[in-house]
Amino acid sequence: MRQAISWTAAIAATCLSAGCGSESAESAQQPRPDILLITVDTLRAGDVSAHGHEPPTMPFMEELARGGVRFDRAYSTAPWTTPSLVSILTSAYPTRHGVGQGPAIATDGTWEVIPPELPCLPLALQQAGYRTFGLTANFGLPANRGFGRGFDKYRCIGAEDLDVFRAELEPWLTELAEGEPWFLWLHLFDPHGPYTTREQWLDTFWPPTRQGFARLDNVSPAELRREARTYTGEQMEYVHALYRTEIRDVDEYLREFFETLPRAAEALVLFSADHGEEFMEHGGVLHGHTLHEELIRIPFIVRFPDRRFAGEIVNDPVSLVDVLPTILSAVGILPDPEAAGVNLFGPDGVQVPSSRRIFAELLRGASGLRAVIDQRFKFVKNPNAPDRSVLTDLQDDPGETVNLVQVRPEVAEELERVLDGFVDVAMARREQTEDTEISAKQKAALRALGYLR
Ligand SMILES: [Zn+2]
Repeated sequence: MRQAISWTAAIAATCLSAGCGSESAESAQQPRPDILLITVDTLRAGDVSAHGHEPPTMPFMEELARGGVRFDRAYSTAPWTTPSLVSILTSAYPTRHGVGQGPAIATDGTWEVIPPELPCLPLALQQAGYRTFGLTANFGLPANRGFGRGFDKYRCIGAEDLDVFRAELEPWLTELAEGEPWFLWLHLFDPHGPYTTREQWLDTFWPPTRQGFARLDNVSPAELRREARTYTGEQMEYVHALYRTEIRDVDEYLREFFETLPRAAEALVLFSADHGEEFMEHGGVLHGHTLHEELIRIPFIVRFPDRRFAGEIVNDPVSLVDVLPTILSAVGILPDPEAAGVNLFGPDGVQVPSSRRIFAELLRGASGLRAVIDQRFKFVKNPNAPDRSVLTDLQDDPGETVNLVQVRPEVAEELERVLDGFVDVAMARREQTEDTEISAKQKAALRALGYLR
């Protein structure tokens, strides 16, 4: 068993102001910014107006993006919550961290926990003197799975919407408004299904008459999964509009949050999501079932306190595993060498190697799907049916409609080799994960959402 990694606040000459230098005396005195990490559950990049959606779903995030850097090709590491958020906290891909390899919830009532030997973002910041706060809304993120590690205060409130979230955060606001620098992670549950209609935004996203469609309001995920194939295209568009009303509401909440906590405006801000959502683009709905773009391409915005690199737009592929090295490097902490991601910023701007490949994985059940993505191509390997592996040219075919495996076999073979090598390395490093019991309350919440019978 390896020793837990020591994060002895490996505070190098800080990179905070102008890249890593040797002026350690000067930089040691430099104030550290607050760090705000916002992730929104089930928010696909294609529906976020900062990434081009019209009409605006997130005008406040557009404002934020104008002062920051927008990554237009950011990817989740998995198409569902738990493994992808673990990748944010640990900078490990699912094969390495092992969380989410079983069914969504094991039928014997056990959770997989985050291996404690992995890098841990909140712990690294805590050990460097940050006050650390985490408030998360999704049933899968309780402290006893390892999500609370490194947080001074951590609360997972389950699948609750914005009103409950607001009330839960309120008691922390006084602490956040004053005192030493903090790291705050907010994970919001909306717009995860069911898509509860936010009346005030419906006209924006559904100008036609509502007559004949209103029965789809608040449609449950279970019903959607069962009935979606019987819906007309218009009905599916209506359901999609409901989803967008929730996104719009999240944006209003974030605007309100920044107004309530003025200090947030001067924080290092990262905005992203855990995964996307499908509305029949590839014959399915909801999430967790494929590695198509609608499920793994997510919003990603980084805004520095001094607004450096404002307005840059990046088209190189980046991943949620980059969050940890990027945050730690920005505040002068050396990321653990085991981190799978990279610091996305150099002294002069964004630095993503053009040869970079990133990965996404769907390992629960018998799926075993893995994707490798480069500047142009995406190869998805299906280990159960190799003839169903898919190569797509994302530049020419962003909707992933044409399989090029037979047309460009040399590209497919090369990417498959890269993917196999990635898996070999990750497996070699992987440790056995442990399971822990889930509580009766957590089970009840899961049952209510249709995840558990
Ligand atoms: Zn999620």
